[in-house]
Amino acid sequence: MSTNEHPAPSAPRSAGTGPDLTPVPTPHRQAAREDAPALRILQLYPSEMNIYGDWGNTLTLIRRAQWSGFEVELLAHEVGDRLPADVDLVVAGGGQDSGQVRIAADLLSHGPAIREWAEQDVPMLAVCGSYQLFGHVFVPATGDTADEPLTGISLLDVETRGSTTRLIGNLTIETERFGPVVGYENHSGLTTLGADCTALGSVRAFGQEGSRAGGNNGADGTEGAVHREVVGTYLHGSVLPKNPALADHLLAAAVRHRVGEDAYTAPDLEGIVTQRARDIAMSRPR
Ligand code: GLN
Repeated sequence: MSTNEHPAPSAPRSAGTGPDLTPVPTPHRQAAREDAPALRILQLYPSEMNIYGDWGNTLTLIRRAQWSGFEVELLAHEVGDRLPADVDLVVAGGGQDSGQVRIAADLLSHGPAIREWAEQDVPMLAVCGSYQLFGHVFVPATGDTADEPLTGISLLDVETRGSTTRLIGNLTIETERFGPVVGYENHSGLTTLGADCTALGSVRAFGQEGSRAGGNNGADGTEGAVHREVVGTYLHGSVLPKNPALADHLLAAAVRHRVGEDAYTAPDLEGIVTQRARDIAMSRPR
């Protein structure tokens, strides 16, 4: 087993280092697609970039893929590891400035390969601290990191400068592709978008009386950034369990990458729980 291969799906991982991959029996599980190769999901820096429940994104993708009849191989990349040769989906979570400092050079060294994947339409979800380092630069604004700019992999045409005030709280954004997307933000970085990417969405009620909603920078009402199948967002929580349309979009692109055709069917879960979670999250004050 090479350094960055996780045990076979049935072997639970040791506590604290990742979700148990044992498929959960559920009445909704579609028949396993014997013919379909396993989907290879890569988690970037799970030990450093993984806060505010971001693990939930990986677990949601694994479960929805399994419920849709696909096996999953979960790979993890930590600082110093070789990057796996071929993946179908990349997930990367948020992290404190200090964590970003620890991973930035390693991520940069793998920039060309990750950008190449993006040009092959490998879907990616980069949350907060990873979103910032998928851009051109992140300049932290906290004393102890000496504000050294962290060079990003320039996969997303965005730049981020840390500020002394953090944007914190529940947030709902309006998106064209996935409808309302709800989550939780907590960041000091203020991100501006360049011309080669589009915002994931616009902050609901931005600028309205009493609304202190943030988003990318608290000034232009945008949130997140999208380039091809790469989605950057400030939304933690984790974001995918409460926003299955986004999860299914990423999985559909991953299956397309793996089998070369549109072969992903979203699991038909009642969705009562999901809708309830969304309603509560959207009704929560900032
Ligand atoms: N450290 C970065 C910031 O403060 C990212 C924080 C995060 O990932 N939640 O902006």
